[in-house]
Amino acid sequence: MQVGSGRARWVDFSGNDYLGLAREPAVARRLAEAAREYGSGAGASALVSGYHPEHQALERELADFLQRDAVLLCSSGWHANLATISGLAGRGDFLVQDRLCHASLVDAARLSGARLLRYPHADPAAMRRQLLRCGTGHRLLVSDAVFSMDGDLAPAEEMALIAREFDATLVLDDAHGIGVLGPEGRGATAVLDQARLPVLIGTLGKALGGLGAFVAGSRPLVRHLVNEGRSYVYTTALPPAQAAATRQALALLRRENWRRERLLEHVGRFREGAAQRGIPLLPSATAIQPLLAGSEKVTLDLARHLAERGYRVGAIRPPTVPAGTSRLRITLSAAHGPAQIDGLLDALEDSLGALPTGSAQ
Ligand SMILES: *Cc1c(COP(=O)(O)O)cnc(C)c1O
Repeated sequence: MQVGSGRARWVDFSGNDYLGLAREPAVARRLAEAAREYGSGAGASALVSGYHPEHQALERELADFLQRDAVLLCSSGWHANLATISGLAGRGDFLVQDRLCHASLVDAARLSGARLLRYPHADPAAMRRQLLRCGTGHRLLVSDAVFSMDGDLAPAEEMALIAREFDATLVLDDAHGIGVLGPEGRGATAVLDQARLPVLIGTLGKALGGLGAFVAGSRPLVRHLVNEGRSYVYTTALPPAQAAATRQALALLRRENWRRERLLEHVGRFREGAAQRGIPLLPSATAIQPLLAGSEKVTLDLARHLAERGYRVGAIRPPTVPAGTSRLRITLSAAHGPAQIDGLLDALEDSLGALPTGSAQ
């Protein structure tokens, strides 16, 4: 994966295009072709006149892929989370959320007016403690399925049991698992059917390489959000051409297993190479491979060293992550080649070696 032009060329290990679909010519061709046919924008919100047969077809195809009854297409993951949380919970209700949930879920909680109870990362006992504190009113147990800055997974199956035990609705945002993990790329939550995971959220801007997001679940859920999800109702629908391009990306994702297999090979190669070189990665089996640096300064120094060697990685600092846990967020893609993975490992080893001793954790 090569990005940039002229002298500013680098190998990108910072994005979320895990399957290489954002730069897949067949998808880009479909976008251009559909734009010639439908124009560049939807021209209105979905409920007014922006809802197009391409949107409907994509919703059906996503529902089929994810084995759900219905899907609601939203303009972005941010919109999907606002619509879902504030559509399902309000004043007098309770939201029990992982402390490391994505910012959009935190903002959605604030906007909803429901009481927000957070628990230490991926801790089932703490989930139970917080659910015990909830009064009457709706209870939503909410989490990222794959944590965007850590790459680790929520204990989804256990959460489904806990949700049932406490009569809570389980809501999982699988922005980084859809397309990448699970059988056929159905995501980190693929083991959970609609009865056990009634509200599944995913984005189309990551592994699917486009833009937009969705909420998947029962027909009554989707009908409810169509009317009550304010960030769905009061925003311009996705361009129909974008929906057409995502349909093409979804078809490739389902057909071309090699993308997922290649990505998982890269994950294995990268972790093995890191272990051999003594590069300390956080535990993660996903495309997100963080290296905990600790301080902001060390994180920035490492990212600068890597950039000088032609590799771009995310330098993630507070407030995105808790203080003292600044990190390089390294993301792998099927679009990388093995030599690029090895090159990054060598550059990381050099960069870590160039630090003053004792400065990296
Ligand atoms: C990226 C992300 C979002 C936001 O999705 P956009 O489509 O980029 O707005 C929501 N949730 C999680 C967990 C994410 O990683």
